[in-house]
Amino acid sequence: MPRGPQSKGRCAYCGQETTKSGMTKHLAACPQRRAAIEQAGGKKGASETLYHLRIQAANQSEFWLDLEMRGSAKLADLDHYLRAIWLECCDHLSQFSMGKRWGEEISQNLKAKAIFAPGVELTHIYDFGTTSQTQIKVVGTREGKPTTKHPIALMARNLMPEAKCIECHQPATWLCMECLIEEDKWGTLCDQHAQKHPHDNYGEPIPLVNSPRLGMCGYDGPAEPPY
Ligand SMILES: [Zn+2]
Ligand SMILES: [Zn+2]
Ligand SMILES: [Zn+2]
Ligand SMILES: [Zn+2]
Repeated sequence: MPRGPQSKGRCAYCGQETTKSGMTKHLAACPQRRAAIEQAGGKKGASETLYHLRIQAANQSEFWLDLEMRGSAKLADLDHYLRAIWLECCDHLSQFSMGKRWGEEISQNLKAKAIFAPGVELTHIYDFGTTSQTQIKVVGTREGKPTTKHPIALMARNLMPEAKCIECHQPATWLCMECLIEEDKWGTLCDQHAQKHPHDNYGEPIPLVNSPRLGMCGYDGPAEPPY
């Protein structure tokens, strides 16, 4: 994957773009997020501990998410979220383990509050064949009410990494699977060169989507959040 100088992302509350390293600070200060929290605080329902998670694709650090997860939500909810936004191709097995490396499986029935605390890290594995590895880190907590009815809220997400056409260096929106599989080349193409590209052993070029799993196994998107 081509890498930009500094990965940027967008705040889901106010739409502001900022660097990956600046996003935690932005979220803490974001007026629109504060307003959402205040509004949630005025509603019925119990307060609980909410965990700010920084999610990052292992070895592809330009793919990252900031999520807020309820303490009462289960790891299975996080697995579901990661599958929907980044990973799901053919319903492969997945697992969580403690720490930065692939280790002993922990139950997906565990609740966030049973294992999370600031600084705690987990590793998520999806597909034990063509493996996607994701790192999860608890970067903060707050006591209060969730801002959505869902177990998880998307607070920020990386912008689509920029890709250039291998033929003309203009912005690319397509990926050739034959380049990838047979030539081990990240064959990104602009609209025009995608049409002229001679490779079709693996079908037409597929659209580039905002996921670290693109091009792996049968993954071709859509890389949309489940809610
Ligand atoms: Zn914001
Ligand atoms: Zn698959
Ligand atoms: Zn081109
Ligand atoms: Zn090709």
